[in-house]
Amino acid sequence: MKRKFVCVSCPVGCELEVELDDQGTLTVTGNRCPRGEAYAWEEITEPKRVLPTSVKVVGGELPLASVRTDRPIPKGLIPQVMELIKKLSVPAPVEVGQVLLKDLLGTGANLVATRAVARRACAPHEAL
Ligand code: SF4
Repeated sequence: MKRKFVCVSCPVGCELEVELDDQGTLTVTGNRCPRGEAYAWEEITEPKRVLPTSVKVVGGELPLASVRTDRPIPKGLIPQVMELIKKLSVPAPVEVGQVLLKDLLGTGANLVATRAVARRACAPHEAL
């Protein structure tokens, strides 16, 4: 199996050429450091991604807050994590960096807010 992809372990973004032979030996070229080989192995065996999305906010100036996982999670778990996130609604205010869900499905990754949402000011008729 041959694949090409970009190493995202640092901003250099080396273009990797990866070949996995029938004996399970991985050959990686194009990497400028050993982290590229480790990234290639992970990408072949258990690809992970940081998940950016949004959650509902109750009583906020905006109805949604943007969020992301604070570390990559296995791609295969993303549908299950999205189901959890769809059911979530958090009260305003929401601060940048606020942890909204901890240890998503045992991955060790937390869901954190990447955008602040202030509490909505009460309209005069709501203050009563
Ligand atoms: S192989 Fe090394 S230098 Fe290249 S993008 Fe990956 S971490 Fe950065």
